[in-house]
Amino acid sequence: MTREAEYAGGMMDKRLQTRLWRVLLVMAIGGIVSFPFRTVFADDAPTADSGLLTRESQHLRLTSDVEDPELLDDLVRSFDDSLPQWLAFWGVPESQAANWKIQGYLMRNVDTFRKSGALPNHIPRFDHGYSTPHTIWVRYQDTTYYNRHLVLHEGVHSLAFELFGAGGPSWFMEGTAELLALHRDRIPVPSRQPRSEFSSNGSVLAQSMDAFTINQLPRNRWDTPGWGRYKIVARQREAGTLPTLKRVLKLPTELNGKVEAYTWCWAAASLFTQAPESRDAFLKAARRGFDQTEAFTSEFYRDVAEEWPVLSARWRLMMNDLDYGFDWSRHQVKLSTSDPRASGAPFQVNVTPDQSWQSVGMWFPKGAKLRFMAEGRCHVTPDWISEPAGITLEYNRGHPLGQLQVCVLPIATPAGATIPGLGIRPVLTRADVSKFKANTPAGSSDDSTPIPGSNVIAINEPSWVLLRINLPAGHSPVETITGEQEAYQVQIIPSR
Ligand SMILES: [Zn+2]
Repeated sequence: MTREAEYAGGMMDKRLQTRLWRVLLVMAIGGIVSFPFRTVFADDAPTADSGLLTRESQHLRLTSDVEDPELLDDLVRSFDDSLPQWLAFWGVPESQAANWKIQGYLMRNVDTFRKSGALPNHIPRFDHGYSTPHTIWVRYQDTTYYNRHLVLHEGVHSLAFELFGAGGPSWFMEGTAELLALHRDRIPVPSRQPRSEFSSNGSVLAQSMDAFTINQLPRNRWDTPGWGRYKIVARQREAGTLPTLKRVLKLPTELNGKVEAYTWCWAAASLFTQAPESRDAFLKAARRGFDQTEAFTSEFYRDVAEEWPVLSARWRLMMNDLDYGFDWSRHQVKLSTSDPRASGAPFQVNVTPDQSWQSVGMWFPKGAKLRFMAEGRCHVTPDWISEPAGITLEYNRGHPLGQLQVCVLPIATPAGATIPGLGIRPVLTRADVSKFKANTPAGSSDDSTPIPGSNVIAINEPSWVLLRINLPAGHSPVETITGEQEAYQVQIIPSR
């Protein structure tokens, strides 16, 4: 993948190039072009003269100079396990790819494959992988995960060729391939995982029984060694250079192997397939994959244009929170362009720990000012109970764990090329709590007395207002004895 002149193949017309590949394939079948590898089938040992090993499954024949039969077995098996999941993702019946099979090369020494002709000279140099309709080439990587990731990624491109004529323009093609290559292995590596990773998610045994699944978000670094995209997100978030969603759709046809660009394409594909506003449009677009021009993107944009402010807002939230443990089931924020305008009357909402950001359910006009009062308790770990000001002994991304936070999210799409950071503020500070306690006679208040916050939130442009309890990305609510959902009760007092 990364470094892809991929289908573009320099200046060559794509359709012409596809045709060229077909011709080459026919020549290969007809014996005009030969692949001089001595084939070693499964269960055979590699021979000293070729040094090449081939492993074959129903859908992938993989030849490699990497003397690791276990790895090759793993790769072809993972490929076959992924195929029905890819088809299900696109809603394509399995019968349509029953006879689909490609040749793959996993290469440690690229020259070997160049010399033998297995990697033809017309294929440009690439850093990670490359695909054509019937063949994929992947450069050997240090981790099993990343070898698998790249084989699956290039395989998705080949399958898109088979099913839809191609994978669409770069942002769509690469986003889809990354989405469908990101996977969770059957057996995580418990020995490399700190014990605390397991404490909240059940036993080691339960984890080791995970099925092989694609389209997964990594729970931690050990899920996806070598992948490293979250590092890029964190770095650019810190530098304030995260791109807007529209910018991603305008990424050039040639991504030139920039891992950053792949990260944005993947994140956008993840958002578009998870957001109710765009899921259908994204899947529908895959079927127009033969069109790799701007017309493809224009049509996709037209399909979601009405919901663009919501999608763009979801993108800002996602990019702010994306990290190991990020889980879409915790990010189902209810945002709509038809949310009612705030009436100006005070109202109350409950903020729960099962979801990250939670909209207060209406939008606020420019000039509105909001004050808050909050109360309630909630487990932030099995051992720690927090109140809205948070626990100052435990922090998550620089803020007290359990802190009730407010975010003013403008409805209008950001105008520039990068997204402005989200203004996230505490609803209540420790000082507010101390002041309240000092001014309240002992015994006259308990946990269910709302504490007024001193922060006044000014709305500078029409905006949604969101609240959340500050918790780590992978948080799952602690089960309480009563089984009741814990919450903070928040009063919102608008004024002008
Ligand atoms: Zn690719």
